[in-house]
This record gives sequence, structure tokens and C-alpha cells, in this order.
Amino acid sequence: MSKRIVSGMRPTGRLHLGHYHGVLDNWVKLQEEYRCFFFAADWHSLTTEYADTSGIRESTREMVLDWLAFGLDPDRCTIFEQSLVPHHSELCLILGMITPVAWLERNPTYKEMQDNLEHKDLSTFGFLGYPVLMASDIIIYKATRVPVGHDQLPHLEITREIARRFNHLYGPVFPEPEALLTETPKLLGLDGRKMSKSYGNSIYLSDNADETRKKIMSMVTDTQRVRRADPGDPERCVAFNLHRLYVPQEKLDEIVPACKSAGIGCVECKKVLAEYVVDNLAPFRSRRDDLAADPDLVEDVLSDGSRKAQEESGSTLAEVREALKF
Ligand code: SF4
Repeated sequence: MSKRIVSGMRPTGRLHLGHYHGVLDNWVKLQEEYRCFFFAADWHSLTTEYADTSGIRESTREMVLDWLAFGLDPDRCTIFEQSLVPHHSELCLILGMITPVAWLERNPTYKEMQDNLEHKDLSTFGFLGYPVLMASDIIIYKATRVPVGHDQLPHLEITREIARRFNHLYGPVFPEPEALLTETPKLLGLDGRKMSKSYGNSIYLSDNADETRKKIMSMVTDTQRVRRADPGDPERCVAFNLHRLYVPQEKLDEIVPACKSAGIGCVECKKVLAEYVVDNLAPFRSRRDDLAADPDLVEDVLSDGSRKAQEESGSTLAEVREALKF
């Protein structure tokens, strides 16, 4: 069987640099090597946003525009929308019948998210059962690998257990997907916390050059460097996270000693950084503007990709029904 990857993103709107360096950049590389299925996980949005669904469609469009502008190619991978492929929900129902509730309750994210989002009522069947939907999303394409970080390994383990249980009960239909561990830099936001839309500390892929410059100039640096004459330490500097990703090594070799000897000020240093970031992102951003000018593009890509996904998921479901003797 060909090497297959399945991965999805919940549509939360425009993507920021944390998404790019944490996920999207990796997807773009994977599409060259694997048969890839990448999807907008709009049903997953319902698990926490069921009370207000008004932003999901627009968020999906913005997110997929970012995917396309930053390198996902519909000719190299299948890009689709989860809710346009109803087979996921049929498999989810079947897998729900064989998944012990205890497996879901011990999911570490379940309690953690309930605590983090305590202003929302997450005591729903759908929220408890979202790992079953996730398992359906993955195994319906007979994925062999799933790109995950260390913190997501417990989720993948539930998927593997569900696939194993199905195969044990009804016969071998699903491969147990393996983790494709990806080391990704945890990108810090402008204020030094994790970059996140909810903290308002993000640089978006769709920001223009001036917005990007302004945000970078506001970034926290080494807080122990109070005066210009104080020596700094890049290891304590939030902005330096971005230097590592965008500034060429020969320039870093100048900046690091200059910072440590107070030979360069933070304002000047962040100006240098901002120009590298802006130059690096410029071609992608201009492509995004071009793509955004076509109002039908995202819908066309998603409906075309969803049709292709449906062919694959439909043939797996035929095997599932056969195995169940339906
Ligand atoms: S000089 Fe540059 S690396 Fe050093 S603390 Fe300031 S911004 Fe950070």
C-alpha cells in the first residue's frame, strides 16, 4: 500500500506564523513524499463552537487560502472539507459502537480542555467522542502515518486502539497508523507567550509588510536588558525566536556577539529582523492576494478535493459494511 498521510486543521480563521512553522510548512514537504489528505476539520469546530457557528465558513475560506498561498498544491495532495465527505460520520457512528467510554474519559485533553474552556459547556456527547471522529478521519483513508508532535501521541494511540479493536472484531480492514513525529519549533508570540489567536499576540500570514514590521518592533526582547548600554542575551530574547528562523547564519554570527556586548540596540536589531521576515514572506503574501481575488477558488478546490476524498472513503466504507456483514 502506498504511504498515506492524513492530517486536518480546525478552521480558526487566518493562520499565523506558529501554524506555518508548526504544521503547514511540514505539510508542504510531506506532499512531495506521501499520498496526502489534508482537510478542514469543520465538524471538529462544532465540538467547542456549537453555540455559534457563524464564523466557521469564513474561517475555513481564510485558512485554505493560507494553505494554498504557502505551498499546498491540489495537484499534489487532496485538500478537502470534512463536512463535504459524510462517510466520516458513518464510520464515526460504527466506531462509536465499539469504543469503550473509559478510553475517551482517560483522554488527557478531555479534562484539560474542559478546564481551559470552562466558560463553555463541554459536557456533550460530541466533545467526549471527538477522538472517535478523529479516528474515523484518519483510518477511513487507511493512513499509514500521521504527522504529530509528542503532545498528540495519546490521541493517535486511541486511533490505533480503535482500529485494532475493529480489526479484531470484524477482520483486518484498517492499518494501524504510525506516528510521524515532527520536531517543530514552539513559536512564541509578541509577548513571549505561545503564539495564539486568543492571546492577540500573533503575526498572521496574511498581515501586510507594515503590519508585520509594527508587530515585530513591539516584540518583547531580553527583559533583563533595561538600558541600551546593558549587554543582552539572545537566549532570553523573545524576538530572537524569529531571528533563528528568518535571519541567515552569517548575520546571526554578527548579531549574537553584538547583543552580548551591547554593540547593537534592540530597536536596530528588530529592524533588521523585520526586513528579513517581510522579504521572506513577500512572495507568499503576494500569491495570497492573487488567489483571494478569485472568489470561487477555495470553494472549487474544496469541492474538487472532497469529491476525490469521497471516492477513497467510499471504497473503505464498502469494505467496512462487508466486514460487518451488512
Ligand atoms: S539586541 Fe537583538 S537579540 Fe539582543 S536582546 Fe535585543 S532584540 Fe534580542
